[in-house]
Amino acid sequence: TRIRPSSKRCAVIGGSGFLGRHLVEKLLGKGYTVSVFDIRQSYELPGVTFHQGDLCDKQALLTALQGVSLVFHCASPAPASDDKALFQRVNIQGTHTVLQACTEAGVQKVVLTSSASVVFEGTDIKDGREDLPYAKKPIDYYTETKIEQEKLVLKACDKEKGLLTVAIRPHGIFGPRDPQLVPILVDTARRGNMKFIIGDGSNLVDFTFVDNVVHGLILSAESLRPESPICGKAYHITNDEPVRF
Ligand code: NAD
Repeated sequence: TRIRPSSKRCAVIGGSGFLGRHLVEKLLGKGYTVSVFDIRQSYELPGVTFHQGDLCDKQALLTALQGVSLVFHCASPAPASDDKALFQRVNIQGTHTVLQACTEAGVQKVVLTSSASVVFEGTDIKDGREDLPYAKKPIDYYTETKIEQEKLVLKACDKEKGLLTVAIRPHGIFGPRDPQLVPILVDTARRGNMKFIIGDGSNLVDFTFVDNVVHGLILSAESLRPESPICGKAYHITNDEPVRF
């Protein structure tokens, strides 16, 4: 038997991660019913159903997506890895599988967490707009596969078929329980390795507070309707001004 999708029933793929968990907590507060799909379970929370599985496994996804109308995709291998095959398998093939499973399960909206690095060519960008072209020489495998992932998700937007998609592009995310950005900076500084400046000290970098990224993800999900101009588009998300680094 198939459960009828309810607009307040959503799934967070990668919901055990740093961003995913913040998103799950905010969604619960807004009255959503939330399922988490992740290869690991990192916490327990009343009202959240956990489905442990690999997003490359369509059957596992189909079980988790029963009755779900809205999917947030925020799973990825850690950017620091240099395992090209893993990035390709999870970010490209896996995203393809996620989109197939969403279509089969009758999901109506998919919101992807992409990355601002998809337009980064190695030189500073200030006031960069979304119409910047994708990087021709992505800085690493992570970014290379995030570009392909974003293209797949945006291309899947099809009003006739009833699947609407949008992508949000944050750069560095910080906030409570951040496992990477701030801890790595602090650790590097403690070990005395922050005495060097790469460039002339005026390189730009953008950090966004995790709640602002979550806000952007939920706003885009709630605005995603067939007549909405955001269908099939990507949006940068930031706090305000970039930081000199
Ligand atoms: P994270 O590592 O904390 O969370 C990612 C989650 O994905 C983890 O819980 C992991 O178990 C899960 N996952 C990985 N492979 C999977 C698979 N095959 N099947 C199912 N689940 C899998 O990372 P995060 O910082 O929360 O990042 C979330 C998203 O935001 C990612 O798409 C990332 O590319 C994007 N992003 C993050 C940042 C940042 O600064 N943290 C910046 C830009 C974009």
